[in-house]
Amino acid sequence: MVDLQTQYQHIKQDIDAGIQEVIEAAAFIKGPKVTAFQTHLEAYTGAKHVITVGNGTDALQIALMGLGLKPGDEVITPTFTFIATAEVVALLGLTPVVVDVDWDTMNMDVDAVRRAITPRTKAIVPVHLFGQCANMEELMKLAKEHHLYIVEDACQAIGARYTFSNGESKQAGTMGDIGCTSFFPSKNLGCYGDGGAIFTNDDELAARLRAIANHGMVVRYHHDMIGVNSRLDSIQAAVLDAKLPHLDAYITARQKAAAYYDKAFANHPKILVPGHQKNSTHVFHQYTLRVVGYDRDRLREQLSERGIPAMIYYPVPLHQQKAYLDSRYKDGDFPVAERLAGCVLSLPMHTELDEEQLNYITSNILEILK
Ligand SMILES: *Cc1c(COP(=O)(O)O)cnc(C)c1O
Repeated sequence: MVDLQTQYQHIKQDIDAGIQEVIEAAAFIKGPKVTAFQTHLEAYTGAKHVITVGNGTDALQIALMGLGLKPGDEVITPTFTFIATAEVVALLGLTPVVVDVDWDTMNMDVDAVRRAITPRTKAIVPVHLFGQCANMEELMKLAKEHHLYIVEDACQAIGARYTFSNGESKQAGTMGDIGCTSFFPSKNLGCYGDGGAIFTNDDELAARLRAIANHGMVVRYHHDMIGVNSRLDSIQAAVLDAKLPHLDAYITARQKAAAYYDKAFANHPKILVPGHQKNSTHVFHQYTLRVVGYDRDRLREQLSERGIPAMIYYPVPLHQQKAYLDSRYKDGDFPVAERLAGCVLSLPMHTELDEEQLNYITSNILEILK
């Protein structure tokens, strides 16, 4: 699914030098590498403040803590996504309200969000799923109208761009009140362990988020709020700082592979290629087909027999997960998400795919589906 070894070989010198520097300086926590990476990521994303943290899930939790939400406050999130988004909402005693997604883009359905808003709704957490932005123009209008916060889950979409109807163009994670991303190794900008970051353009919020990530501490050993301990370590920052200058090239490589897949599968009666979100670029964290005229699980097995990995992101929507079963929801309530869970199949997608590999993958799929 990914090829991090080959990617490393291309940038080995820079990565090794960065790691070596951290070890020799013995500045493992909050060292100059972390500060440098934050500054470089601010320049890359256009976010006024980047606050690095331990992972993407922590980023989401700290974001919601920073907004001062209270138990019982409702947070709207898509039901077709990775668990982290709803998990942190539940952990904080907030109420996750899930909504269905769009069949083509697989992103949060704006009309469903509108219908889910109640007087207790405080925030919307759109997930920019698989690497393209949700419909931010409409979501931001809705949030403004109802005085709601927006926390973007940009864990899969770093570097994606969204263009608003007024011509303004912004990066994933920098449009809402807060944006969150993950540097999990297989993410588009991945480190060699765990890492994450929070983006905001609000000075006060940035100070609060920074303090929460550091035990609620502003002045050493004086704790103004309840916080957590979540930080990016310097070795991971060194890896990320070496990889950041390549991120645009990595995105282009993913887009090229996606274009190859798109072309091979265009107008196929049994599989649908990913639909594109209007006004957003797609950075293809995943290339996810919908298998509509063939047994998805059988196709996956047949590919596996031919040495081709394929993954199911995600097999069970949030409202059908054991830990999140809720009397408010029943099977059939979110038909698009439930249908997607039964038919999505993600193909190998990374920066090192060459034409030979792409040809092997696509020709085998076409042959199986003949
Ligand atoms: C990866 C991911 C997360 C969590 O990131 P971690 O760094 O693994 O904690 C959250 N949301 C989405 C959509 C993700 O893809």
